[in-house]
Amino acid sequence: MAAFPRRAVFLDRDGTLNRQVGYCGDPARIELIENVARAVTRINEMGLLAVVVTNQSAVARGLVTEAQVRRVNAEVALQLAKAAGARIDAFYYCPHHPSEGQGPFTRDCDCRKPRGGMLRRAADEFGIDLANSFMVGDADIDHQAAKDAHKDLLTFALPSGYNKGLGDVQVSSLWQAVEQISQVLSVR
Ligand SMILES: [Mg+2]
Ligand SMILES: [Zn+2]
Repeated sequence: MAAFPRRAVFLDRDGTLNRQVGYCGDPARIELIENVARAVTRINEMGLLAVVVTNQSAVARGLVTEAQVRRVNAEVALQLAKAAGARIDAFYYCPHHPSEGQGPFTRDCDCRKPRGGMLRRAADEFGIDLANSFMVGDADIDHQAAKDAHKDLLTFALPSGYNKGLGDVQVSSLWQAVEQISQVLSVR
C-alpha cells in the first residue's frame, strides 16, 4: 500500500460505459451510454481513480486479439474524453476463459470476474484502499469480484439481464451511482 492510499471507482466496461454489443474487437461499434462521460468526469473531480475492469474472454475464444481489446479500450477512453473531458486512469482486462478456446488464454485464472484479481492488481499498482473504494457494474459478477477483492468495497448495480440483484445498491444509471458515492464521501 502506498503511503497515501487512494480510493477508486472500479468500472465495468461493456454495459456500464459502452452499450453491450457482444464480443467486440471493432472500435467502430463502440457507443457510449448516455451521460457516462459526465459521470466519469465527476469521479475525476472527486479525486477518485477511475479504473476499468473488464472480462474479455473473446480473446481466449479466438474471436478477438489482445491488440483489438486495447484498441477498443482506447476508443472508450477517447469518446469519454471528447464528450466531457473525462479520464480513465487505468484499464485492466482478463483475456482468459477456464474452458473455451484452445490457446494460452484457456486456463483457470485469478483475474476473470467473479474473481477479484484485477482489482487486487490495481490496488497493488496504484496503492488503492480497497475497503473504501467502489464498484459500478451491470452484472452480479461485478459485485462478486469487488467483494472477492474486499468485503467492504461498496457495489452499485445497474439494471441488465446479468444483474440478478446481488449489488449492495441498485441504481438506474452510472450518474446516480456517482451521486451516491459523493454522498458517502461527504459523511465518511
Ligand atoms: Mg457488463
Ligand atoms: Zn484472467
